[in-house]
Amino acid sequence: MSAIRSSVRQRIDAGGTSFSFEFFPPKTDEGTRHLWDAIRRLEPLHPTLVSVTYGAGGSTRDRTVAITQQIAHETTLTPMGHLTCVGSTVAELRAVIAAYADAGVHHVLALRGDPVGGPQAPWVSTPGGLEHADELVALLSQLGDFSIGVAAFPDVHPSSPSLDFDVAVLKAKQDRGADFAMTQFFFSADSYFRLVEAAQAAGVTMPIIPGIMPVTNVRQIQRFAQLSGTPLPDEMIERFEKVADDSEAVTELGVETASALCAELLDGGAPGLHFYTLNRSFSTLRVYRDLGLTV
Ligand SMILES: Cc1cc2nc3c(=O)[nH]c(=O)nc-3n(C[C@H](O)[C@H](O)[C@H](O)COP(=O)(O)OP(=O)(O)OC[C@H]3O[C@@H](n4cnc5c(N)ncnc54)[C@H](O)[C@@H]3O)c2cc1C
Repeated sequence: MSAIRSSVRQRIDAGGTSFSFEFFPPKTDEGTRHLWDAIRRLEPLHPTLVSVTYGAGGSTRDRTVAITQQIAHETTLTPMGHLTCVGSTVAELRAVIAAYADAGVHHVLALRGDPVGGPQAPWVSTPGGLEHADELVALLSQLGDFSIGVAAFPDVHPSSPSLDFDVAVLKAKQDRGADFAMTQFFFSADSYFRLVEAAQAAGVTMPIIPGIMPVTNVRQIQRFAQLSGTPLPDEMIERFEKVADDSEAVTELGVETASALCAELLDGGAPGLHFYTLNRSFSTLRVYRDLGLTV
């Protein structure tokens, strides 16, 4: 582990629970207003960190770094920048890593990323670039004092042959310097606990924080689930289909479903929760309240 005390590890090692919120770089002025509204509403919850995604193919590189930097300078929050290998040479990755360090951003989520054709498309190598996230973890460890997070997949990565293979990948990331993992969103607590059990049996000791996506739009979650290879339980999707045309009812059911999943995960020993906020605060705040976590 790096000399920088990972905020996630620090909170968990002190007996606490790590809560984090993920945002994406908006494309429009209205999107920017939504993002900052969500950041300001979630700030009083004192999350362990907040993270900013890196767009497909590195398309948001400058905006991701700028927003992460702005969060570092203008809020009380600890920002984590995402970084992917897609379409970048090692020299270009070094430049982004240097920009994070300059901005005082010491938490980085090291990812391979998806090819421009999406998660199911074949991987496209970049000459002079990296092939897998574990190599990016090694580069970050070698370059600076970063606390490094990595991705994990309760429902198995869509192009991985098996859970065992995924676990070996996770162990390689830990061995190369990762401090913690955050998962893809999922809807069955059993998938998460199966991954954690297999990972621990293989020597993974870093915390694996479950990723939570409260449903707010039925078509959108079906699209996201298909892209990421996340199964949507039949019983759950039937309940959502019944209210699909009533956006308030969908959001309410999304909060109810996410709260039940979070409670099951925390009761079963999950070390924290990472919320995919989609730049909105409403559902995350409601889940927090339902769990009795609101400060
Ligand atoms: C919390 C979270 C945040 C995310 N944020 C972003 C983001 O901001 N931007 C973005 O573009 N994407 C993001 N993603 C998506 C992620 O980039 C994709 O799921 C991607 O397909 C896998 O990334 P990875 O880091 O797990 O890659 P890897 O660990 O490299 O795995 C990719 C595939 O290669 C296989 N593999 C890994 N290592 C090896 C090896 N040494 N030899 C052979 N096969 C190997 C794995 O089994 C897997 O099938 C995020 C995912 C999560 C869970």
